[in-house]
Amino acid sequence: MKDWSIEGMEKSDEYILGDKANIAVIGGGPTGSFFSIFALKMAKMVGKELNITIFEPKDFTKDGPGGCNKCGGIISELLVQTLAVEGINLPDAVVRRGINSYKLHTSQGDTSIATPYFEKTIATVYRGGGPKGMIEQGKESFDKFLLGLAVKEGAVHKPLRIDKIEYKNKKPVLFSQKHEVVEADLVVGAFGVKGGTAKIFEGLGFGYKEPRTVTAAIAEINMGDDIVGRYFGNSIHLFFIPDKNVKFAAMIPKGSYVTLCILGKDINPGTVNDFLGASVVKRVVPDVELDRIECRCLPKMNIGAPVKPFTDRIVMCGDAGSTRLFKDGLSAAYLTGKTAAKTAVFQGVSEQHFRKHYYPVYKSIVIDNAYGKRLYSIIDISRKSNIFTKGMLEVIRKEQQDSHSRKVLSLILWDMFTGNERYKNIFPKIFDVRMNCNLWKEVAKTLVY
Ligand SMILES: Cc1cc2nc3c(=O)[nH]c(=O)nc-3n(C[C@H](O)[C@H](O)[C@H](O)COP(=O)(O)OP(=O)(O)OC[C@H]3O[C@@H](n4cnc5c(N)ncnc54)[C@H](O)[C@@H]3O)c2cc1C
Repeated sequence: MKDWSIEGMEKSDEYILGDKANIAVIGGGPTGSFFSIFALKMAKMVGKELNITIFEPKDFTKDGPGGCNKCGGIISELLVQTLAVEGINLPDAVVRRGINSYKLHTSQGDTSIATPYFEKTIATVYRGGGPKGMIEQGKESFDKFLLGLAVKEGAVHKPLRIDKIEYKNKKPVLFSQKHEVVEADLVVGAFGVKGGTAKIFEGLGFGYKEPRTVTAAIAEINMGDDIVGRYFGNSIHLFFIPDKNVKFAAMIPKGSYVTLCILGKDINPGTVNDFLGASVVKRVVPDVELDRIECRCLPKMNIGAPVKPFTDRIVMCGDAGSTRLFKDGLSAAYLTGKTAAKTAVFQGVSEQHFRKHYYPVYKSIVIDNAYGKRLYSIIDISRKSNIFTKGMLEVIRKEQQDSHSRKVLSLILWDMFTGNERYKNIFPKIFDVRMNCNLWKEVAKTLVY
């Protein structure tokens, strides 16, 4: 990828946001809300007033796909803690369950990985009102909560879909259903990958291209409090099944429902039923009556960041830009939203400002994902080998039973799937000598017995 950070000098005053500058945020998901919250807080710090309008047509109180931004809804420990430090504490009404362990299910057996940290801080949430038909009093969606915070901070929410952008007087002008809605000093693209909005920006010709995506599957299964408590507890259940199209799947308990997310290749409307019929799944999950699946979708997932995410007065953040591979997209929404806000408020909104102050963070996510890809290929190879899977399970079991063990393999898997750690920091751990000795010893035992 080209290193934009070394090109050009910063432009002058024309691109510094003045008092009452107009910022248009396209998308009121987590990225749009994080950007707005931080831009408004930072502007107050320097005595500036900003007019931020968030364009978001979805009603996040609605049940079913119409009110939802379609995701597993796992908020990593790191993000829960980072937000708390920022003064954003997730209220009980938003959190559906606290998670303290992962259970790993494979064709060769199962094992648990408990949180290596003392606090139970992974949270599960719904992005909208909840699965179709679910009415739960006193609960709130994550996206509604964040959008509410942005509005409290001073942003204006307009329930409009932006469908066209033109330049007038060198500034972007936004349209919705043929009506001009704002001439902006800055446009923040926080529209994700699920709605086709990228085409509008591709059409502006500054080099932005829609991120590369894969299709995932999500299903919400109504199992009832009792079964969720008994079978799932406070654990996320991860499945590595020997199906070449399923990279991995997670079942995430939330109240009386379980959210099933499947990532892989050739995901289609039949993938969820096929997965629930797999022998590994039938062994650990009670028989699911398929009519208990009240909500299904096949959302797109960003797996490749666009090379050029900004130009003068336009910046792309969150899923519309770069996000973390296969996990923790909400942390990337926070990181890119906040960095774009910092750049806009304290530096400026020209292409050069974004190149120098926003792009290094954007690129660090892209580089980290390159390590992630390598780690997932190792997991893929081991998933397909019964001998290796058995050895890996045995090492994890021993690590979990021994309170003095360094738990290297457990930690690698915990950090891979919780989003707690950057892939780059996990990568060196796969060369840990003692862990590798233990692993190969267990693999050898499997071969002998
Ligand atoms: C199957 C799956 C499971 C996932 N699980 C997790 C997980 O457990 N934890 C995690 O951290 N991440 C997870 N992610 C990633 C996470 O969902 C995304 O990274 C996150 O939603 C990105 O937030 P965003 O605000 O950038 O985009 P989005 O959440 O997609 O929000 C974009 C918003 O923009 C609005 N919009 C779009 N076009 C327009 C327009 N033209 N005008 C106005 N508004 C518009 C949309 O209505 C939407 O509300 C998962 C993703 C997938 C696909």
